Amino acid sequence: MKKLDKSEVIYNFSPKNEGVLKINSGDEITIESYDCFKNELKSEEDSLAEFNWNYINPATGPIYVNGAEVGDILKIKIKDIKIEDQSVMIVAPDEGLMGERIKESETKIIEIEDGMAIFSDKIKIAIKPMIGVIGTAPAKGEIPAGTPGDHGANMDCKTMVAGNTLYLPVNVEGGLLALGDLHSVMGDGEVAVSGAETAGEVELKIDVIKNKKMPLPFLESEEKVITIASANTLDEAVKIATNNMVDYLVNDYNFDFNEASMLLSLVGDAKICQVVDPKKTARFEIEKKYLNS
Ligand code: CA
Ligand code: ZN
Repeated sequence: MKKLDKSEVIYNFSPKNEGVLKINSGDEITIESYDCFKNELKSEEDSLAEFNWNYINPATGPIYVNGAEVGDILKIKIKDIKIEDQSVMIVAPDEGLMGERIKESETKIIEIEDGMAIFSDKIKIAIKPMIGVIGTAPAKGEIPAGTPGDHGANMDCKTMVAGNTLYLPVNVEGGLLALGDLHSVMGDGEVAVSGAETAGEVELKIDVIKNKKMPLPFLESEEKVITIASANTLDEAVKIATNNMVDYLVNDYNFDFNEASMLLSLVGDAKICQVVDPKKTARFEIEKKYLNS
C-alpha cells in the first residue's frame, strides 16, 4: 500500500498546489497526519500564546489521482483512522460560542486508554475518531485549510469516520486531495472551537467516478446518506444541505419534488457539524431504507 508521510503538508487548498504523490483510481493509501496545531502543543504548559498561527490546520498532501478530470467525483472510502494515545484541546478568549466569557486560554491534554478519552477522573468518553479537514482543490483561488466549502476541507463533521464513504468534487486535474485535523472525539457544533485534536494515520481507498451528478460533498454510511454544506451562516448551510438532499432524491430515486420534500420533513434530520469555523457547516441525513422502498 502507498504511504504519504506528514512531511508534505499544505495550509491552503488551491489549484496551484502540486501533487506530492500520484496514485491510480482504485488505490489504497495510508496518510499520516499532524494534529491541527502541527503537534506543537504537547503538554498543558504549552500555551496557545506561543503557537505560530501560520501552522494551524496542516493538511497532508495533496494527492494527485491519475485520470481524475474536472467534473469527475472522487469516491473516498475511509477504511481506518488510527489516532495517537494523547489528544489535546484548547479554550481561548473570543474563540468558540463561549469565547466572550473565557478570560484565559487553557490547554488540556487528554490521554486515550483502551478506546476511552480520559477527560477527568470521573468522565471517560468513548472515542470516535474522525477527520476534521479533508478536501480537494477548488477551481480557483486559495482557500485556507481551516475554511470549509464546496471542496470540503474543514467541515468538522463527526460522521467523517472509518467505514463511511465521502464524495468530493474534482475541480482541477488530479483532484489534489489533502487531509488533516483528526479528532479522537468531537460533539456536533465543536462549540468550544476544538475537538480532542490528535495526530494519526488514515487509510483510504480512492476511486474516480465519471459521468455522475450528485450533490457534493456527500457522505454515505451503511445506513444513511448525508449531504454536507458550508456557508456564512448556519441557516444558509442547513438550507443548502437540505435542498441538496431533495435534489438527490429527485435525481437518483425519481421522487416527485413535493413528495421528496415531505419525506425529508418526516424522517430527515438537519444537523449541525460545526459553528466555530470561518464558514459554518451543516449536514442533512436520511436513512437509506426510506429510499429503497
Ligand atoms: Ca477543524
Ligand atoms: Zn480539529
